Amino acid sequence: MYDRILVRYGDLTLKGKNKRVFVERVNALIREKIDNPNVKLEQRHDRLFLVLNGEDYNEVLEGLNKVSGLSSYSLVSKSERDIDSISKNALDLIKSELKGKKVTFKVESKRSDKIYPIKSPEISKQVAGYVLKNTDNLIVDVHNPEVTLTVEVRLEAAFVYISKIKGMGGFPVGVAGKGLLMLSGGIDSPVAGFLAMKQGIRIEAIHFESTPLTSIESAQKVIDLTEKLSVFAPSSKIKLHMVPFQKIHVALLDYIPESYNITIMRRMMYRIAQSIAIKNKCLVLLNGESVGQVASQTLQSMSVITEVTSMPIIRPLSTYDKLDIIKISKEIGCYKTSIKPFEDCCTVYVPKKPTTAPKLRRAFEYEAKYDFAELLNEAVRDTKTVIITHKEHLDITMKGLVVGEVL
Ligand code: ATP
Ligand code: MG
Repeated sequence: MYDRILVRYGDLTLKGKNKRVFVERVNALIREKIDNPNVKLEQRHDRLFLVLNGEDYNEVLEGLNKVSGLSSYSLVSKSERDIDSISKNALDLIKSELKGKKVTFKVESKRSDKIYPIKSPEISKQVAGYVLKNTDNLIVDVHNPEVTLTVEVRLEAAFVYISKIKGMGGFPVGVAGKGLLMLSGGIDSPVAGFLAMKQGIRIEAIHFESTPLTSIESAQKVIDLTEKLSVFAPSSKIKLHMVPFQKIHVALLDYIPESYNITIMRRMMYRIAQSIAIKNKCLVLLNGESVGQVASQTLQSMSVITEVTSMPIIRPLSTYDKLDIIKISKEIGCYKTSIKPFEDCCTVYVPKKPTTAPKLRRAFEYEAKYDFAELLNEAVRDTKTVIITHKEHLDITMKGLVVGEVL
C-alpha cells in the first residue's frame, strides 16, 4: 500500500549554510541507517521523500528511528490521479491507520500540476465527502483537527498520507562537534550519551576500570552498553577508552579519609578524562550526573569535584527525574544491561558516610598525602582504546583491554 515515506527534518529554524550542513548530514545518516540502495532519497525543498521501490517500509522506519535530527515521518500511499482513485486510496489509508478510532479530521490538498482540472479546495471537499460517507468515526474540524489527511496531486501520480510518526528530534549526530562521555555500567551515563548524540554531539567514551578489584563482567557491561549506543553513532562506531584505574583506586582507599574518598576519586576521574579528551580533540566532557542523586552529586560536591577541570562539562540528565531516565534507558535498549548486578568502581567500596558538603581546602589537604600525579600520568599513558560497533560483539577477555585478566 505504501509507496514512499515523507520525512520532516527537525529544527529547521537554522538558516543558510547551517541549514545546508544540517540537511546534508541528516541525509547521510538516513542513507547509512537504512542501508538499502533500492530506497531512493528525493529532496523537495524542506522535505525529503524516501521512495521505497517495493522495499519493506517497516525496515526503513526502523532505520529512521536511529537518525537524530528528524521531527516526524509519514507513510505515503500512491494512486492514479483521477478523483475516484484518490478518494478510494484515502479511505483505505484512513481505515488501516485509524482502525475505527474516533478523531476529528480535515483534508488538505496540494497540486503541483496546476493544469489538473480540479482545484485544491474542491479536491479536499470531494475526498472528505467520500471518506465521511464511508466511515463513522470521523468528525470534521478544519481549525484544529487531530488528523490531517493530505492529498498531493503531481504530474506522475497522486499521493495521500496521514500518519505522523514521531522522530527522534534534535540535530544530526556530529554537527555539534565531539565530546567525551564518562561511561559507567549504570543506568544514567548511557542515557546521557544518547541525549548528547541526539543533540548533535558525536561521542567517544571513557571508562575507569578497576579490575581485578571489580569484576571483568562489570567492564564487559560497559562494552555492551557502548555497543547499544553505537546504533545511533555515525558509521555505528564509538571509540571507547579504557583507563586502568585500579592503582589509583587502591591509593585512594589507603590514603584518603573515608568520607572524602568519593570526592577525591571523582576529582581523579575528571583529571584523567580532561587529559584524554584533549588528546582526542573532544571539546566537552559529558556524564550521567543528576543533581541530588547521590552524595557526589550535590551542588557543593560538584563544585569541589569539577574544580580540577577547565573544560566545559555537559550533564544532559542534571535535572531529570530517575523514572524519566529509566524510560529512555528502556527505549534505547540499554536498561536490561544497565541493571545487571555487577559492581563497578563506585559500588565496590561504598563509604558509610560520604560527605555531601566537601570543602575544597580539605580536598587539597588530602590529595597532598600521596603523589597522585605519577599514578595519573601512568593511567593516561596505559589507557587502551578500542572501536566498538553493534555490528560485531566484542568479548573483553579477547582484547587485553583490562588489567584484571592479566593478573
Ligand atoms: P550511572 O547510573 O551512570 O552508572 P551512578 O548512578 O552510578 O551513574 P555515580 O557513580 O555518582 O552515579 O556517577 C556519576 C557519573 O559519573 C556517571 O553517570 C558517569 O558519567 C560517571 N562515572 C561514574 N563511574 C564511572 C566509571 N567507572 N567510569 C566512567 N565514568 C564513570
Ligand atoms: Mg546516577
